[in-house]
Amino acid sequence: MKLSHQPSVAESLSAFSGNEEKDFTLQDGSRVAVVGGGPAGSFFSYFLLKMADAVDLEIEVDIYEPRPFSRCGPGGCNHCGGIVSESLVQILAAEGINLPRDVVRRGIESYVVHMDVGDVEIASPAGEQRIAALYRGNGPREGGEAQLASFDGYLQGMAERLGAQVVRELITGVEWNDGLPVLQTANGRETSYDLVTVASGVNSNFIRLLDVLPEAFEPPRTTRGYICEFRLGEQKMLEVLGKSVHVFLLSIPRFEFAAIIPKGEFATVVMVGDDLDQELVHAFLRDPVVQRCFPTDSAQCVCSCSPLINLGARKRPYGDRIVMVGDSGVTRLYKDGIGASYRTAKAAATTAIFHGVSRDSFEKHFWPACRTIENDNSVGKIMFATNSVFQHSRMTRRAMLRMAQQEQSKSGATPHMSSLLWNMFTGSAPYTEMFRGTFHPGFIARLLFNLGAALRPERKRMREA
Ligand SMILES: Cc1cc2nc3c(=O)[nH]c(=O)nc-3n(C[C@H](O)[C@H](O)[C@H](O)COP(=O)(O)OP(=O)(O)OC[C@H]3O[C@@H](n4cnc5c(N)ncnc54)[C@H](O)[C@@H]3O)c2cc1C
Repeated sequence: MKLSHQPSVAESLSAFSGNEEKDFTLQDGSRVAVVGGGPAGSFFSYFLLKMADAVDLEIEVDIYEPRPFSRCGPGGCNHCGGIVSESLVQILAAEGINLPRDVVRRGIESYVVHMDVGDVEIASPAGEQRIAALYRGNGPREGGEAQLASFDGYLQGMAERLGAQVVRELITGVEWNDGLPVLQTANGRETSYDLVTVASGVNSNFIRLLDVLPEAFEPPRTTRGYICEFRLGEQKMLEVLGKSVHVFLLSIPRFEFAAIIPKGEFATVVMVGDDLDQELVHAFLRDPVVQRCFPTDSAQCVCSCSPLINLGARKRPYGDRIVMVGDSGVTRLYKDGIGASYRTAKAAATTAIFHGVSRDSFEKHFWPACRTIENDNSVGKIMFATNSVFQHSRMTRRAMLRMAQQEQSKSGATPHMSSLLWNMFTGSAPYTEMFRGTFHPGFIARLLFNLGAALRPERKRMREA
């Protein structure tokens, strides 16, 4: 991917300052470009057009998205675990966006936590199948005859129905001309816009093209994930995994987190960590705890990829006539990236329609939504660090397991540990809320009691060894 023109920082700043004289409100006939038609781009376009209609404003929206979501395999997919949290399912329903049956591959009833010291099944607190497991494209490569409806295709269709134009082209360059952003496509076409919304995620070079612009556009930090799709057949998959997401807290060296998600005849294995490589993936899949739950000898890996994950934006993701939403800007740490796309996209659309498209407007009306996510991520980092300490000690793993098992087996018991694990894995609640829950006297008392109880078998094991 090449930049058509690489302005110096000084040039860019002067292009920006040239904008000061201009009117930064969207008017009838204004043109908006959205770079990327994943969840963030489609949510943004949908809300922008919906709000424009509400205030009787006629604008044109072009979504640039070369990926055909109807294609099987990586070419039609925005690589992801495909879990839509229960809080997001509910928020979308309140917006009138109900995920169709053919988009949801499996309604999730519970999470099963697997450790070397035992397993515990944590049921959905609401007792409903509100968590959706889905595919972002048309399912895995070698998906066979299965024609799966894609989540990203569904969202894009919603934006199109409100009037957005999908342009199946890759954006390869951006420059400023007379204070307006000009986009260049792979086949050399140049178009100027009143607002450019960047929703290209982190798995594309596009945000790096923006490096040449003022400091606000530094790309987010990233780490790698690994995704592998296994095919086992619908019936067999139900027998093996049921309607549960299986998560693993194991003490394999360098291992951080993995989950296995059932989706019809397939299962998605997702691994996340700073130090992921093939050796670690094999060590995980061969681990006796994993083999007990998901014997891969009988399953066939039909599709795999190792996408980047956003670990946090370094600088504020906006300027005059440009705003970054979803993964390109600020997202939630490790969880609910689709939910963060929805939140940032809606905040950006609201700002553009009701407050204008200047840097100041985005600072005042869009940035607070991003800052809330960023502040919550700071607490999330503490939660993940603590979880990592607990995960790597056999005694603390045993204590967590005991506490969650007791809560799940006694009806009416306050689910202190179960709620914490549920929210950590599903991303349904903000990290701040989970953190607050760990200061509850009931949580602390039960944890100390279970740590004491977990110490006894550990002492015995050490004496015997
Ligand atoms: C391993 C892994 C597992 C995950 N699991 C989950 C999960 O279970 N649940 C969850 O909520 N989130 C999950 N996420 C996070 C989630 O995938 C992202 O947060 C979400 O996809 C962000 O949406 P987006 O629209 O910002 O970006 P993307 O989904 O990345 O979409 C960007 C779009 O822009 C297009 N594009 C890129 N460059 C250009 C260009 N130059 N011109 C035109 N178009 C372009 C791409 O084709 C793509 O369609 C996971 C992420 C990873 C890596």
